[in-house]
Amino acid sequence: MIPVSFEYQKAGTVEEAIAVLSGSDGKILAGGHSLLPAMKLRLNQPSKLVDIAGISSLKGIKEDNGIIIIGAAATHAAIASSDLIKDKLPFFAEGASMIGDVQVRNYGTIGGSLAHADPAADWGALVLAAEATIKVQGSGESRDIPAAGFFQGLFSTALQDGEIITAIHVPVPEDGSRTVYLKFPQPASRFALVGCAVVRHADGRTTVAFTGVADTPFRDNGAEQAASGNTLDEASIADAADAALQGVNVLSDHYASEEYRRHLAKVYLKKALRAVA
Ligand SMILES: Cc1cc2nc3c(=O)[nH]c(=O)nc-3n(C[C@H](O)[C@H](O)[C@H](O)COP(=O)(O)OP(=O)(O)OC[C@H]3O[C@@H](n4cnc5c(N)ncnc54)[C@H](O)[C@@H]3O)c2cc1C
Repeated sequence: MIPVSFEYQKAGTVEEAIAVLSGSDGKILAGGHSLLPAMKLRLNQPSKLVDIAGISSLKGIKEDNGIIIIGAAATHAAIASSDLIKDKLPFFAEGASMIGDVQVRNYGTIGGSLAHADPAADWGALVLAAEATIKVQGSGESRDIPAAGFFQGLFSTALQDGEIITAIHVPVPEDGSRTVYLKFPQPASRFALVGCAVVRHADGRTTVAFTGVADTPFRDNGAEQAASGNTLDEASIADAADAALQGVNVLSDHYASEEYRRHLAKVYLKKALRAVA
């Protein structure tokens, strides 16, 4: 499978990448592990690719004043192996280490995954449960997009033409909080048939997000309300599973029927809540 021909340009800075993209039908190339297969299938035919993988300012992982800042071009492997992430956001390290295989993790990036917005990708559930902010830069002002407003539909996000994700800002959960990410992977690709991320804050407030279940990753308000509070025991965990997925249009495909996926999501929610209890 060969894509249509395209120009290739390597950008040295974010500003250069934005300028090259401006007014064109070009696309950013990060790890290429979603874009290039789509181009080979001719689902995407940009006339120009702007490679951002060499922009060092997009790759760092650091902490600033209680916020973990992950550069958009940080690879899944870099995140999985970061001591800072393992210490402060252990569920991000768990999630990153479960993505695809070694090659996918070494090339694929968190920014590319978020921008691509595959409904079965892992990062969506993680950034939602973590209440992260997506930092984006276009030719004008930079913007902060809360994760809760980022995913807008199947392969669709709040990014506007010409905008680049520059970083993901994640508040460090306070001492006494617990986090977990669990997924039931599709056995060949490792994409999530169901992925469930949970943050149990020290005061009992609990955030729950799913991926793989619907056409976008989502926070589950019913499950969150049932699970939040001072006690998380078998009764409240069962209540949270009962309350989960209300009004959600659950996906059905040849890997998993709607009924099976719905059941699996509740099983994974219970496992995740037991893990943080
Ligand atoms: C065999 C295989 C298995 C996989 N398994 C999993 C899995 O288990 N879980 C999972 O979550 N994913 C999985 N993936 C997807 C993988 O994580 C991709 O790397 C990821 O979805 C896209 O990241 P990328 O850096 O490769 O982006 P690219 O493919 O380079 O780009 C994807 C899209 O995002 C845009 N883009 C890239 N970076 C930015 C940016 N900074 N700002 C704005 N737009 C940007 C591009 O223009 C393009 O439209 C798998 C992929 C393969 C090939």
